[in-house]
Amino acid sequence: MASTLLGGLSPDRFLRRHWQKKLLLIRVDFSDLVGAPFADATGVSLISGLNSFYVESSFGRTGFYPSGGGSDITPTLRMPQAASYYGPNDLYTQLRTDARNAAATAGYVLANYDYDLICFGAVPGWGWAGLGYVGAAGVWLRNYFTAGVAGHELGHNYGLNHANFWDTGGQSVIGTGSSVEYGDIYDTMGSANAGANHFNARYKSYLNWLTAAETLTVTTSGIYRIYPHDDTNSTGLRGLKIVRSSSTNYWVEFRQKFTGNRWLMNGAGIRWSGNGNERSHLLDTTPGSPDGRIPSSPTSRADRFWAATRSTRNGTWEPSWTISIFGPAAKTRKFTRWAAGSPTHSATKSCPPCARGAPGPDGASWSPVRRYR
Ligand SMILES: [Zn+2]
Repeated sequence: MASTLLGGLSPDRFLRRHWQKKLLLIRVDFSDLVGAPFADATGVSLISGLNSFYVESSFGRTGFYPSGGGSDITPTLRMPQAASYYGPNDLYTQLRTDARNAAATAGYVLANYDYDLICFGAVPGWGWAGLGYVGAAGVWLRNYFTAGVAGHELGHNYGLNHANFWDTGGQSVIGTGSSVEYGDIYDTMGSANAGANHFNARYKSYLNWLTAAETLTVTTSGIYRIYPHDDTNSTGLRGLKIVRSSSTNYWVEFRQKFTGNRWLMNGAGIRWSGNGNERSHLLDTTPGSPDGRIPSSPTSRADRFWAATRSTRNGTWEPSWTISIFGPAAKTRKFTRWAAGSPTHSATKSCPPCARGAPGPDGASWSPVRRYR
C-alpha cells in the first residue's frame, strides 16, 4: 500500500525513540454484521503473541506493551455505516477513520498509541485477512486475529515490504524469472505465520534489529562465520551482504528454527534485496529439484557449493569470493561459495578449475558450480 517511510525517521532513530510500542486494537461491528470480532481473551493473547514474536525476532530491540499495561483493546464499537457499505466499495480508509473516531469518542486518546489495528469480522467485498501501511501506522484485520497475520501487517508498519520468491521455473537460480508475491515461505512477510518465520536477515538489518556490527558487507575472499539470526542467544555476525550491483545485494543468513528442514538447518539462506526496504527475494539454490524452495546448500557433496557472481556484464568482473559459513560450534556444517576459472561455469558444464572431485580452496572435494549473475 502507499506509504511514507517510518514517518520520515531512519530505522535506527525510529527504534531508538521508543523500542516498546503501544497497540490499540479497535474492535468494531456493523448493523448488518453484529457482534464482537473476538473475545477479550483472544485480544490479550494476540498482543502477547505479537510481543513474543517481535521481542524474539529483534533480540529485544522492539516489542509491545501488554493489554492494560500500555496497549489496549476497545469494546466493540458500532460503525456508522453497514458492512455492506465499506467492503463492496473498498472504503477501508473510511472504515479506519470511523473506527478511530469511535475509539476517541469512547475515551481512548489515540496519540497515546504507536499503532492502531482495526479489527472486524468477515466484512463482504474484501478477500484479504489483513492490510497495513508500509512505514506508517494503520492495520486492518478482517476475521483473522493471529500473531502471524497481525505480525505481517505490523511488519509493514515498521517499514517492510513483502518477502518474495524468485521463480525461474526451475531453470536456474537467478536467471530469467518472475517475482512471486509472498513466495518466501520462511519469512512472515511472505508466509504470515510468525513463530519460526522470522523476518529475514536483510529485513532485520534494515530495521536495525541486527546492528551494523552484526552484519558484514563482504568484499574480499575469505572464510566468514555467521550465526543463526533466529536464535535469541546468538551473538556476532548474523548476516552477510554481498554487493551484486548498485541496486541489488545478496544476503546470506543462517537459521535454526525449521528443525525439520535439513537444508535450512545445515546451510545458508540466500536472498536478493535492494539497498532500502525493497521486497526481498528468496533464491532456490537447487533449481529444478523436487524439493521445493531450497534456500540453502544441501549437505550432499554435489550441492554443497554454490557460486559465482562473476560475469563480464558491462565488461567488468563482478566480485567473487570464497565464503565458508559455519553453524554453531556444535555443528560444523559448511557452506562454501567459490568462484573460479572462467565465467562460463554452469551446473551442466564442468571446467578445469572446478571439475568434480578436484580440491576446492579449502581442500574439500569439489563439484561443478552453478552460475550466478
Ligand atoms: Zn502484506
